[in-house]
Amino acid sequence: MADAIASPAELCGILGLDPAQLPALIRDPVAIQGFPLRVPRGFVARMRHGDPNDPLLRQVLPLDAESSATAGFALDPVGDMAARAGAGLLHKYEGRALLIATGACAVHCRYCFRRHFPYSQEAALSNGWREAIDLLKADPSINEIILSGGDPLSLSDRRLAQLTEALTTVPHIRRLRIHTRQPVVLPERVDAGLLRWLSGLSLQKVVVIHANHANEIDDQVASACRDLAGCNVTLLNQSVLLAGVNDSVDALADLSEALMSVGVLPYYLHLLDRVQGAAHFEVDEATALRLHAALLQRLPGYLVPRLVREIPGAASKTPVTLGDRDLLREYVTASSD
Ligand SMILES: *Cc1c(COP(=O)(O)O)cnc(C)c1O
Ligand code: SF4
Repeated sequence: MADAIASPAELCGILGLDPAQLPALIRDPVAIQGFPLRVPRGFVARMRHGDPNDPLLRQVLPLDAESSATAGFALDPVGDMAARAGAGLLHKYEGRALLIATGACAVHCRYCFRRHFPYSQEAALSNGWREAIDLLKADPSINEIILSGGDPLSLSDRRLAQLTEALTTVPHIRRLRIHTRQPVVLPERVDAGLLRWLSGLSLQKVVVIHANHANEIDDQVASACRDLAGCNVTLLNQSVLLAGVNDSVDALADLSEALMSVGVLPYYLHLLDRVQGAAHFEVDEATALRLHAALLQRLPGYLVPRLVREIPGAASKTPVTLGDRDLLREYVTASSD
């Protein structure tokens, strides 16, 4: 993580790009300080040399477009603060609670909906997990704990073990789910120590990785996924539909196939959360539905992720569907024109 690239000039140099080929880079000093460029070298190695439109580059390159305020785009688009049950614990949906384990990430994704999240005040670790554990103990309806962030695998193995030890004192927690981008952007993180910790857990384990494009999945990622599966982990993927990254039927189908080839099932395809600074990534709902309908036609059902949107206050992620067979036919016809 410490070796990650933080300078746009260095990134351009490695990729053989002249900054003049790129859209204007970010100049707003506040935005740069709060959410600077960060990308692991191994992830950069999967970008195409000399291609200013590379889909992996687009996810991490801070552009000036981020500085423009867009109507309808908010600092907390998914209502995280309203769902706060205690320090670092978000309880939105029945049966599962989400723990903001840390604010740190190995990569800074420019579309991230938590890019403005007040991590320093909210990370559950700040009080040794105690407040969160006490809240979980008091609510027997919660049977699954989701580690999120930031990226929970930014924590050391020792911290993770402390947390899961504390969790074993809560008898109604049966499942541990980890939402992490590190097996993809920093597969080195899936090392012997992490695997030892995972193997030793008595909880059921689900790891939801986050890849948006087939080019993100290389041999090292494949090996990390194999190792995780070897610890009895169920592997799923969530992605975000992003303009210029994966907003075509080919890109989405290739992603599903690449995931399947490393033993990961597609889970969610999220419509962009409308966070301030990410408007240039938005794909409109009609286009998203058309892409999803075409994907259903092309792939086996288990390789088609659920298209969802997060609506603050809703009781679950909200499926985005056509809901009508005739409409579906119309969309598919239109998309093959
Ligand atoms: C997305 C999310 C979950 C998980 O929802 P699933 O539909 O179970 O994947 C849980 N808690 C919070 C706060 C979330 O944002
Ligand atoms: S890894 Fe996840 S939490 Fe971190 S910046 Fe990317 S999308 Fe946001």
